[in-house]
Amino acid sequence: MKSLPIRLRLSLWYFAMFASAAALLSAASLWMLQRSAYVTEYHNLQERAEDVQLVLEHENPGQTLDAVRADFATIYDFKDDGKYLQVRDEAGNWIYRSRRMIAEDPQLPAPANLPGTGVLAEFHQGTRYVRILAYPIQVRGRRYAVQTGIAMNKSMALMSAHRADMLLLTPLVILLAGLGGHLMSRKALDPVATLAAQAQSIHDRNLDTRLPVPNTGDEIAELSKTLNQMLERIDKAFASVRAFTGNASHELRTPIALLRTEIEVALLRPREADEYRMTLARMHEETVRMTNLVENLLSLARADGGAETISLAPMRVSRLFERMERTWTAAMQQAMLDFRVEIPQGDFCILGDANGIQRLLSILLENASKYTPPGGSVILAATEDKEHVVLAVRDTGMGIPEEDLPHIFDRFYRVSQAHEIAPRGSGLGLALGKWIAERHGTQLVVESTLGRGSCVSFALKKAEPLFSNSQVPAGKATATFPESAAFKTSRASGGNSIA
Ligand code: ATP
Ligand code: MG
Repeated sequence: MKSLPIRLRLSLWYFAMFASAAALLSAASLWMLQRSAYVTEYHNLQERAEDVQLVLEHENPGQTLDAVRADFATIYDFKDDGKYLQVRDEAGNWIYRSRRMIAEDPQLPAPANLPGTGVLAEFHQGTRYVRILAYPIQVRGRRYAVQTGIAMNKSMALMSAHRADMLLLTPLVILLAGLGGHLMSRKALDPVATLAAQAQSIHDRNLDTRLPVPNTGDEIAELSKTLNQMLERIDKAFASVRAFTGNASHELRTPIALLRTEIEVALLRPREADEYRMTLARMHEETVRMTNLVENLLSLARADGGAETISLAPMRVSRLFERMERTWTAAMQQAMLDFRVEIPQGDFCILGDANGIQRLLSILLENASKYTPPGGSVILAATEDKEHVVLAVRDTGMGIPEEDLPHIFDRFYRVSQAHEIAPRGSGLGLALGKWIAERHGTQLVVESTLGRGSCVSFALKKAEPLFSNSQVPAGKATATFPESAAFKTSRASGGNSIA
């Protein structure tokens, strides 16, 4: 179900809260007015009963009942207080009864039956609404019951006037509150609407635009800042995608142009079969390079899109090294390099994705073979500690300048000297290698000395051996490669550090 817009919801909430507050306030004020009128009237009636007590106290003790009655008639027949008054002694003799009381004849219990605070009752008489209090008093040891009354028309008129005022005022206040709520919610949400309008004007071609951050330090300023940070990230991602596409097109353009030139030159005039064969061989070489490049590009694109998956499983380091030796020996011989694989004697296993680790080692071995001049050596070795196995590729090649080390994992980055020794690289190998290492929860560590050689290594978690082989003694692989401690070594790393 589509919910109401926030602005309307806020107005409704504001309205509902104010409406209930106003209604509650009116009801409470009415109740309080009623209560204070009631208390005032009670005290009034009580005072009148105590007046009667004073009159009785002033009577002579030996006065006859008739004389007392006559005194009361003299006092109360003309007094307003006497309109609703009747007094009876404990024997049940009437001492005074006003005409209005005789007409109404309300019940007056004996003083012994009355509680100390008296008993209140009400009745209608003509147009009057009367409240009466039957109250016990005591004079010189004798008890009397006094019943006084008061017409409540005035306080009732006051009350109904107040009620009418409230009935008129409350909806007015509620209406004003609704209007105020609407204006307030508009005012509160206006900056959001402005921000939304500004955000809507940002598209892929003006991603460098930033939203204005108000100088208020409030939630809107915080929202603007957060959106700007998000824009910054999107802008960077877009820029890197654009750079990636640009670089990829550039990298592909060169071999395609080369192929085209080869074909055009071959087609200029009829040639011998050998010439055609040589052209085809060069074209084949070029297409192999292109295939590698496209494969790397595809892998990185798939990695960015999350499509490239890695599944970790235990694998034997010795098997892995044997496979790498078989794959790389011929290429190393062709490059006139002394290739040594230090196959570890111990039967230890690592946790990794078989294809991923083979690809990573191939990237490192390819670099070692490319950037090591003929006559040099390349070593693939493994060392173990309690929890990890460190795989390393060392070479005695050209090395990497210190200032280039932080960038060698960037896509399409190549050290300028690399072009001289290996003109046909595209700078994607280590970027892909870094991604593979990251997915294994590790990082590539590069130690290099210019002109002396490089060592790229990464640590992988040890895994339980696939099956126990107690016959095989646990050995430790030792790399015979000269340690770089003797000369200045630079370090760089790409990927996550291993947990
Ligand atoms: P690609 O691998 O895509 O064919 P590439 O080898 O140039 O091209 P990377 O493998 O990413 O790209 O290496 C980046 C740069 O790092 C290389 O151009 C090179 O300058 C430097 N580099 C990498 N490995 C070595 C090494 N073993 N010795 C010297 N320089 C190296
Ligand atoms: Mg490479």
